[in-house]
Amino acid sequence: MKSLSYLNKYFLKYKWRFLLGVLFIIATNIFTAQMPVIIGDGVDELSHLFDDSNELDKDKLIRSAAWVGGLYFLFAFIKGFFLFLTRQTIIIMSRLIEYDLKNEVYAQYQKLSASFYKKNNTGDLMNRISEDVSKVRMYLGPAVMYTVNLLFLFVFVIWQMLSVSWELTLYVFSPLPIMSVLIYFVSRMINKRSEQVQIQQSALSTMAQEAFSGIRVLKAYHRENLFSDEFDRASESYKEKTLRQVKVEALFMPTIIVLIGISTILAVYIGGLKAMDGEITVGQILAFVMYINLLTWPFASLGWVTSIVQRAEASQKRINEFLMEEPEISNPSTSLLDLQGEIEFKNVSFTYPESGIQALNSVSFKVNPGETLAIIGRTGSGKSTITNLVCRLFDPSSGKILIDGKDLKNINLDAYRKEIGYVPQEVFLFSDSIKENIAFGLDGENDMEAIEDAAKKADLFTNIVSFQHGFDTILGERGITLSGGQKQRLSIARAIIKNPKILVFDDCLSAVDTETEENILRSLKDDMGAKTTLIISHRVSSVKNADKILVLDNGSVVESGSHDELYNQNGNYRQLYDKQLLENQK
Ligand code: ADP
Ligand code: MG
Repeated sequence: MKSLSYLNKYFLKYKWRFLLGVLFIIATNIFTAQMPVIIGDGVDELSHLFDDSNELDKDKLIRSAAWVGGLYFLFAFIKGFFLFLTRQTIIIMSRLIEYDLKNEVYAQYQKLSASFYKKNNTGDLMNRISEDVSKVRMYLGPAVMYTVNLLFLFVFVIWQMLSVSWELTLYVFSPLPIMSVLIYFVSRMINKRSEQVQIQQSALSTMAQEAFSGIRVLKAYHRENLFSDEFDRASESYKEKTLRQVKVEALFMPTIIVLIGISTILAVYIGGLKAMDGEITVGQILAFVMYINLLTWPFASLGWVTSIVQRAEASQKRINEFLMEEPEISNPSTSLLDLQGEIEFKNVSFTYPESGIQALNSVSFKVNPGETLAIIGRTGSGKSTITNLVCRLFDPSSGKILIDGKDLKNINLDAYRKEIGYVPQEVFLFSDSIKENIAFGLDGENDMEAIEDAAKKADLFTNIVSFQHGFDTILGERGITLSGGQKQRLSIARAIIKNPKILVFDDCLSAVDTETEENILRSLKDDMGAKTTLIISHRVSSVKNADKILVLDNGSVVESGSHDELYNQNGNYRQLYDKQLLENQK
């Protein structure tokens, strides 16, 4: 129960609602426990009518019966009403807490840094915010409600039973220990089996999901049969596991009923003996039998409630793991930022913590405000890592990054990121309209003029207007798919629309031809004037106009300077240049 205590703050938040719910539960059970008494007394009264006189007073009999029936109905109605109110308070409380908890987890997810997302897969993140929170909800709602209910029902019923005969009460409850033990073991068995069913079920759905998302590959390789065989097998195993579970469940109720039967027999037999001695009445025996039945279901569900609590405990533990995680990168300041756009790396090294790969090794460079720095190098040489560091998705392992001469670690991160237009190497587009995808970079109102302007600068405008729905064209699963180059240009439009002080292009023109690339770079040129720009590319053509070029190899800067300088150095850059020139001339 340690993990679940985290939720106490929510119980505290909704304490009035909760207390009201408990009051309703108490009210419900007062009426529930009273109902057998009505029947018992009624039966006694009616039987007196039969004993008392030789001749039966029919009117009186009918009146008595109607009175008993009416009273019973009234109590049942009131009980039902309070039951309704109980659910309206406790279950609603659990839903409210579920909502709060989901928001809390989501807010935490947003705070956590990129390295957290590297460590944990998306499925896991999704599970904890949906499945796990739902399981916790079952504890907050039903489990709490049933437990409190059982508690009060038990107290009230025992009270009534003891007031009739403590001896009979003891007899009737004698099967209880056996029942408890049995419920415990059977529920455990059911839990175990249902867990296996659940695991198999999620395996099955993962499998199906993979098949559907990879359907094109599946078909192209003509692997449908292989896959459906596999699915059959998994499905068969699911069936077997479910049947095993059903078998135990099927045993559960009959066993309970047998035990209840024993209690009932004891109540009738022992009660009958006592009635003959005149210690109790027939009506009271009847009330006892009704009490036994009243307690049956809440008792039988005790195992179920325990399993809910256990599952909730496990789920909350998983949720807590994420909630307790400290974001590695947090915003250190809220002060205003007047960014000029100077970027300086001072002996920056970076090692990816998970893989231990050293991606950067003592990299130093400086870009003045408004300058363009190009970084060129083979795949895996650390180019993207530099952009990640500039955007502060990670912090350097050693060395310093200075922005306008100040350590990036001390700068207001939110304000800083607002000033950065980052085009990642892998484009991500939302399943939304083109317009919204571009405007994603904007704060506040969508400005159609700005959107069109950004599209023009990214050399995408003519493409977009040729679509039937233009800027309202929907992308993604239910819409059209853009080509690789179009996606990259859209991503660029998204970055430049916010008019940032620093632009970071991570190899984002790889899928467009050289000519288009030059178009874009040229049209951005006037725009870039006031912006510090980082261009990453493996094409010499796109870097040669930069103010400064870094050649990266295996995490180290091997050459740096302007195009002319590097060309004359006759090193790596020159080699690359000559090779690409040759290819272009072919
Ligand atoms: P480039 O962009 O120049 O192709 P990267 O900066 O992406 O190179 O990668 C540099 C090195 O860091 C590579 O060896 C790569 O395998 C490694 N690397 C990149 N990203 C990660 C990551 N998220 N986790 C672990 N290693 C990484
Ligand atoms: Mg890269």
